[in-house]
Amino acid sequence: MIQFQINGATDEHLSYGDIVQQAMNFAVSLTRMGVRKGDTIGLMSENRQEFWGAVVGVACAGAVLTTISTGYVKGEIIHVTNISKPNYMICSPVMYKLHANTLNSLKFLKKIILFGEETQPNVLMYNDFVFESNGQVRNVKFEEFQSVEVQGQSDTLSILYSSGTTGLPKGVMTTHLNVITACCMPANIDPSVISLTITPWFHIMGLVGMLTAFVTGRTAVYLAKFNVDTYLKTVEKYRAVHLTVVPAVLVAVCKNQSNYNLTSVKAIYSAAAPLHKDTIKSVHEKFPNLQGVYQGYGSTEMTVAIIRFRTTDLNTHKVGSVGIVLPNTVVKVTDLETGKALGPNQRGEICVKGELLMKGYIGLNRGSDFDDEGFYRTGDVGYYDEDRYFYIVDRVKELIKYNGYQVPPAELEAVLLQHSGIRDAAVVGVEDRSAGEVPLAFVVPQPGRTLTEAEVKDFVAERVGSFIIRLHLLHWSRTPMTTELDRLSNPKHLRGGVRFVQQIPKSATGKLLRKELRNMLEIARCD
Ligand code: AMP
Repeated sequence: MIQFQINGATDEHLSYGDIVQQAMNFAVSLTRMGVRKGDTIGLMSENRQEFWGAVVGVACAGAVLTTISTGYVKGEIIHVTNISKPNYMICSPVMYKLHANTLNSLKFLKKIILFGEETQPNVLMYNDFVFESNGQVRNVKFEEFQSVEVQGQSDTLSILYSSGTTGLPKGVMTTHLNVITACCMPANIDPSVISLTITPWFHIMGLVGMLTAFVTGRTAVYLAKFNVDTYLKTVEKYRAVHLTVVPAVLVAVCKNQSNYNLTSVKAIYSAAAPLHKDTIKSVHEKFPNLQGVYQGYGSTEMTVAIIRFRTTDLNTHKVGSVGIVLPNTVVKVTDLETGKALGPNQRGEICVKGELLMKGYIGLNRGSDFDDEGFYRTGDVGYYDEDRYFYIVDRVKELIKYNGYQVPPAELEAVLLQHSGIRDAAVVGVEDRSAGEVPLAFVVPQPGRTLTEAEVKDFVAERVGSFIIRLHLLHWSRTPMTTELDRLSNPKHLRGGVRFVQQIPKSATGKLLRKELRNMLEIARCD
């Protein structure tokens, strides 16, 4: 049986054999171009057919892959590329049209390599490196191909970005061994089962999720962007059995009133953000043959979900739990004050250690992110029950998660402080049933200055990308305008609103007291 990667919206098929051929050809081309072990190559693309030939090709050339979020705007691209300093950037046509000027201003970038057919001045074409018919390469024979040797335990395979427990996005260094371990986790998945994934491949969940699909040899249907009707139509058309989602997708699916045949779906895997109990209940009503909705818990720093339900747990579902700790990882729950390990049913910080844990953040020392025993402090609060099933209940870290996307408050606070009428500002996440969380700003106006909520929201929206991008899209997009606008509507907009206050609560050392801010919101809600 031939396994395929299928674009669910266009029905384009690519066999795994084709992907391997592209990857080998690309790896050889990169080496010929002078790419050497340890060089960094960026990838900026929505989910599309060429993606995996490029990813595996970069890995086989011994280079380090850095994937850039397709939602990033100029300032964010500059921030993250300055961390990883890629020499080449592989770009989809959509991303190129949006960001060519920004990319061309990066001094360390030698060349852009473009996906697709349409050539552009001064860029290299990916197709020229992978297709014999395009002239520059000969198909590399599998038996003769040798990838560049790496040290699995110490060599970095990828750099993805996460703000961790505090501050701006940092570069998470994931090793080859981290990813191999993630892909070889016991999955117990029948290869004839068709899975549908909607997660973006630049995010760790999409990146490792698809690599695992290759390893288990199952056909993977994907979509490049989320539209609830296209999504459900794709489930119906391909008779998808397993769905991989973020919670926001399930919320939208449950609200959809159209009639699709969803009887094929047996299991749904959700990760990247908390999944509400009510959503789990509604999902069971929507999919008649569903055996379980399973949460996984992990992060970019942990390479993959390290706590999750296994497929063999189909009948032992504990609603709301993220499951049990998987092999290769040790987890402890520690007291928030003393750092001491806690027993069952006691809430504390989730700390992890093992083969899946990142090497570290590029350019930064381990600092307070790790404890004395080498455990990574996740900043997430949870507990385990007598059966060792884990529950995630809160977060002590700053991070806000909007539809599964990271929104580091520090980034929005820096933007707010650029406003001449704002003396001080702080941002927190507030719960939202559809998106998980939305950012809300506390703002202290300059003395004598009157500000409106709309003014502050627009100020942020303009700087985290909305209007400029929208104009570009109106001009360039060939797909219906509204879908494109939705896709790029930035997770960092102040959807939670703006509260004007007289001062921001801070500790004696000037540290922002986010917990107090959240308490202020609670009190306002009760009034
Ligand atoms: P990321 O690196 O973007 O995957 O973000 C990781 C963070 O997302 C974790 O540290 C948690 O705060 C949150 N997260 C991931 N999975 C879950 C889950 N199942 N339940 C609650 N929070 C989650």
